[in-house]
This record gives sequence, structure tokens and C-alpha cells, in this order.
Amino acid sequence: MLVHVPPAATATEPLYRLFDATVIATERLSPTFVRITFGGRGLDEFAWDGLDQRIKLLFPNASGGYPSMPADDASWYEQWSSLSDDERPPMRTYTIRDRRVGFRGVEVDVDFALHAESAGPGAAWAAEAHVGVPLRIVGPNARATGDRGAIGWLPPRDARRFVIAGDETAVPAMACILAALPAGSRTTVFAELRHEDDLLALSAPEEVEVRFVPRTGTPGAALAEAVCAAFPAVSRADDAARSAAADSDGIDSETEVLSEVLWEVPGTDPNTGGRIENDDRSAASYVWLAGEATAVTRIRRHLVRDVGVDRQSVAFMGYWRRGRAES
Ligand SMILES: Cc1cc2nc3c(=O)[nH]c(=O)nc-3n(C[C@H](O)[C@H](O)[C@H](O)COP(=O)(O)OP(=O)(O)OC[C@H]3O[C@@H](n4cnc5c(N)ncnc54)[C@H](O)[C@@H]3O)c2cc1C
Repeated sequence: MLVHVPPAATATEPLYRLFDATVIATERLSPTFVRITFGGRGLDEFAWDGLDQRIKLLFPNASGGYPSMPADDASWYEQWSSLSDDERPPMRTYTIRDRRVGFRGVEVDVDFALHAESAGPGAAWAAEAHVGVPLRIVGPNARATGDRGAIGWLPPRDARRFVIAGDETAVPAMACILAALPAGSRTTVFAELRHEDDLLALSAPEEVEVRFVPRTGTPGAALAEAVCAAFPAVSRADDAARSAAADSDGIDSETEVLSEVLWEVPGTDPNTGGRIENDDRSAASYVWLAGEATAVTRIRRHLVRDVGVDRQSVAFMGYWRRGRAES
């Protein structure tokens, strides 16, 4: 039997590095989701800090392979960026759904949402993946010390009332968050999905209220409507404060066109993405929004501007944007 001995951590290691993985299992979880399990000795030093920790997957390039890139330091990115379009493996963002040590060593699950209508390299690869296929993953490095970051679930101290909303791309992250909720908390999840059976991928604990929002028309439109209806606008005297809060939400008030602001995670440093030391936010409630960028931005705007939720208690993340490939 193989015994997995975690490697010793050092201070000079990159927080994230490139790993060589191999598909060791695939499972169709529901109409939309396929779970792909990765393994192989290349993952021995792949860490996981839980919650909605994100990773980057590098899919095979136009020739169906990978150019050589340094795996064990941070310089892979420089090399990746300098490759020609044909040589460069397309990179997409996903969530670690699980990481465990099995009899074959470290195993990592990623739940892929298949979106056949406009499949990019990520969804197309997942639809065809089978045991034995290689994949390169940029993931958390077990040898690195300190906060490895890349986590968006950072509730203020004392928060016990949670609202979590997202679409299929956020289901893996939501599932990991729900598995780690503090005892005694009250949580409502809004999930916009194409099929009710896709809720199977969420594995929500019984005490969590899950509201299935069927997708109708434009992705995210039904989600925005459902969350905004559940938390109606309240009339407030301080309209100036409302406008100030909305100013930086990424939607131009006049045109309703979304600018590039698609992400805000209170509790992190916007430049490094790392957690702020001595985060002194304290609040009773916390909202976590992830999914189609226009939809989550609209929801956040409604909650902050029209309902009066403190923006320091709302994390919103555009996981993808309609009509645009991730770049
Ligand atoms: C932090 C983070 C975590 C994520 N975690 C996951 C995860 O665990 N599982 C997962 O499946 N996705 C996840 N996503 C979303 C995923 O990165 C995007 O859906 C990505 O665009 C998929 O890449 P692609 O190559 O399939 O499509 P792209 O080449 O990026 O896009 C091609 C086309 O597909 C459209 N598109 C992208 N996603 C969808 C969709 N869901 N439905 C319909 N059209 C779509 C785009 O708008 C574009 O028009 C995550 C994103 C982020 C930022």
C-alpha cells in the first residue's frame, strides 16, 4: 500500500505552480455536470485549502499537446505568455471540488459544467475526457507556506446569515462552501440551472434552504430576478450614499452597459488577491455571488444600492461573461 507523506513546506516556494495530472475517472453527475478525477504522481504536492479555491486548467494546444514548461517554479507563466497562439495551451479557471489522498496517491475532483451550444476549449475537453488523458493544472503548492489565496468566501467576523447565489459554473464552489458553514448559521442558496437534476451536484446539507431557479432565456436573468424579488428595495433617505456605493459597481447608470469591473471580494487586497491581514469587518450577514458577470453585477448593485446591504459584506465574482471566451 502506498503511504502519502506530505512534503515539507518552504518559504521560497511559489504559492501556485504547474502540475502534471492524468484523468483517472469520469462520472456524469447530472444532465449538465461531469466530474473528472485527476491523479498521478505529478499531484503529490497539490494542496487544497477548501472553500471556493480556484485553479487554472491548461488544455491541449492546437496540435493537441503541450510545449515544455517549467513545472516546479512560477516562471511557467512567463513562458506560457510568450508562446504563439497555436502553441499556447488555452487556460481556463475552475474550482477544486475535492482533493483527497486515496490508495493511488493524491486525487483531485473538478466538476465541469458542459455548455454545448458554445463550448470553448474547457467544456469541449471535458465532454470528451476519458481515463488516461493528461492535463496540466496550475494549483496550490503544498510546499508553500502562508496564505495561498484564490478564495472568495471571506465572510466578516460574526456573520451567521448567508445568502449564496450563482449559476452552474458556481455550483462546485457553492458545494464546497456549504460543506464548511459554521454551526448555527442560516443559509439560503439561489441556483440558476438548466435542469433541476443539476442540484445533485450541489449536495446541500438539509438545514440549507435551496431555491432552484430554472434558466429561462438569457443566462443569469432569472437568477437576478429571483434574488432581487426575495430582497426588495427599501426606501432610504441617504440617496447620496446609494449612488456612491453604486458608482464602482461596474454598471453605467445611464446606459446599463457593463464595464470591466466584474469582481470584488471584500477582505482581499485587490492588487494581490491575497487575504488582508487584520481584516476588521464585522457583520451579521454575508452575500456571495458568482456566475454570469452581468447577472451577478446587477444583483450586487440591487443589494447594495436599493436594499442597503453594506458592500463590505458582498462578494461578487463574474465567473464567465456571455459571448466572451475567458482570456
Ligand atoms: C473562479 C472561477 C471558478 C470557476 N469554477 C468553475 C467550475 O468549477 N466548473 C465550471 O464548469 N466552470 C467554472 N468556472 C467557469 C468557467 O471558467 C467558464 O465557464 C469558462 O468560460 C469555460 O471555458 P470554456 O473554454 O468552456 O469556454 P470559453 O472559451 O471561455 O467561452 C466560449 C463561449 O462559451 C460561453 N460560456 C462560458 N461558460 C458558459 C456557460 N456556463 N454556459 C453557457 N455559455 C458559456 C462564453 O460566453 C463564450 O461565448 C469558473 C470560473 C471562475 C472565474
